[in-house]
Amino acid sequence: MEYFLNELQKTVKQMARTIAQEKILPVRAELDEKEEFPWSIMKDLADTDLLGIYIPEEYGGLGGGCFELCLATEELSRVCAGVAVSYAANSLGSYTLLEYGSQEQKQKYLPDIARGKKLTAFAITEETAGSDIGNIKTTATKTGDGYLINGTKQFITNGGEAELYTIIALTDKERGIRGASAFLVEKGTPGFSFGRKEKKLGIHASATRELVFEDCLVPEENVIGRLGMGFAMAMRLFDRSRPGIGAQAVGLAQGALEAALDYAKNRVQFEHPIISFQAIQHMLANMATEVEAARALVYGAARTIDSGAKGFSLESAMAKVFASDVAMRVTTDAVQIFGGVGYMRDYPIEKMMRDAKITQIYEGTNQVLRNVIASELRKERAF
Ligand SMILES: Cc1cc2nc3c(=O)[nH]c(=O)nc-3n(C[C@H](O)[C@H](O)[C@H](O)COP(=O)(O)OP(=O)(O)OC[C@H]3O[C@@H](n4cnc5c(N)ncnc54)[C@H](O)[C@@H]3O)c2cc1C
Repeated sequence: MEYFLNELQKTVKQMARTIAQEKILPVRAELDEKEEFPWSIMKDLADTDLLGIYIPEEYGGLGGGCFELCLATEELSRVCAGVAVSYAANSLGSYTLLEYGSQEQKQKYLPDIARGKKLTAFAITEETAGSDIGNIKTTATKTGDGYLINGTKQFITNGGEAELYTIIALTDKERGIRGASAFLVEKGTPGFSFGRKEKKLGIHASATRELVFEDCLVPEENVIGRLGMGFAMAMRLFDRSRPGIGAQAVGLAQGALEAALDYAKNRVQFEHPIISFQAIQHMLANMATEVEAARALVYGAARTIDSGAKGFSLESAMAKVFASDVAMRVTTDAVQIFGGVGYMRDYPIEKMMRDAKITQIYEGTNQVLRNVIASELRKERAF
């Protein structure tokens, strides 16, 4: 399908595809097996300025938006979703700074983020606060020099690897989540350490880790935006970032579709390539149609966000839910088309199926996002 990409978008897509083919493909099985963070690939991405796609040119970025970020994420995910999420989580960790940070904060951090010198992460989840993020317990208590942070964040993408963390903590416990605020915390700050590194089903190349804060003093100037706005900022952030998860899902599904198509043309049974069997043809037809539908929805949501629209919770949630459900179905069907070898690690297809599952879970599970979609529909919003 033609999506009428402009020159920047075509370039971004091509650069990401080249890195995916030349740098990621040769090492993806090894990264998966060793559960290794892809530092050398992050450096390649930094060298091509792809890490700063969404950062304005005045801070050294490419000046693109959500759509350009989705295009790059999709291409990387087509080859390895673990690398793609490490890349995409960098924008998750810096969007709040970009949207609500002071001029001083932006000048201090954004140029290094754009150049890939500082990788970032975003942390809201805690043991008691997953879907129910209103139930965070981490506190930030005012002292003379700033705020003392205490608490533990869990399942944080890029945890341990990133240099800069945007975290949400309670500055006014009495007000609950309405008393939450956003802070920038640098790696190496006394009282800030890393806990358990998770062993996961998929996306092995990405780091998922606990952040532990024990009387961690952060200066006043590290508060992002207004106190008490942390929850609203996080909600806005997820509205912006969910099409990126959709793009991850589309890339994964596209990669699985291509691999399945190729395999079906070459695998011979009953003296015919298995693609000559109608059962296989119909599976491939459904897979291709669903991938294209998911892509159109993700691109539409990303373009809505970049248009400057005020509210986009509905589009963003729809894109993430639909694309991730498609990724799960398509990668599962791709394994089926591969038959027994699809279950073996010799082929990339079982990895794609393992990797796809997370897209239905993080940045709002698909159940919770269906609640969001329904609640937007109940507002009788005009289409
Ligand atoms: C690999 C990985 C990376 C992650 N990266 C980050 C990160 O970088 N930063 C960060 O802050 N967090 C991160 N997370 C956390 C992630 O966003 C949460 O895991 C997710 O929001 C779900 O929360 P939970 O795991 O506590 O599940 P729970 O909230 O306990 O949900 C369990 C089940 O109950 C269902 N459920 C819960 N509430 C409802 C409801 N109201 N209606 C219907 N069903 C419901 C859910 O859909 C799910 O099926 C990451 C998680 C993983 C696994």
